[in-house]
Amino acid sequence: MIRKFALSVFISVLLVGIVAFGITWCLSPWLSFWPTFGSVFLSVATGWFVLNSARERRMEIAVEEQLAKQEIFDERNITMVTCPCQQNTFPMQLFVNEVNEYVCDVCKNRFVINLTPEPILQTDPVNLEQTYTIFQQLQEQAQKEKREKELD
Ligand SMILES: [Zn+2]
Repeated sequence: MIRKFALSVFISVLLVGIVAFGITWCLSPWLSFWPTFGSVFLSVATGWFVLNSARERRMEIAVEEQLAKQEIFDERNITMVTCPCQQNTFPMQLFVNEVNEYVCDVCKNRFVINLTPEPILQTDPVNLEQTYTIFQQLQEQAQKEKREKELD
């Protein structure tokens, strides 16, 4: 990394030297080498700095835009949806407990995405005892409810 940097600096200085030498040679009676070398070096360095910071700024803007887009997506429940035809992926606003309908631009089919909140019991697959306890509790609760119903 440092060697690469040193090499590029060396090549830059060499190129600046050649350019300065060329200018001095063309305008020999009026210009001397070292002031020309200095000015060429300064303009190249300034140009590089300006271009580099412009590039960095562009990258920053791109990242900011991406983040802003993501924020909007998150706020509006927008999700990237891939059509079952596998030919079309697009952003879509999805709502829970509503008919989320779309017509695919590629396969021209009409689809519905159902989002229904449905709790699924999560258990530790290796902890059979815990699973059994939960199962027993659910069973007891069901029996209790059944008894209460019978009493009414
Ligand atoms: Zn499709």
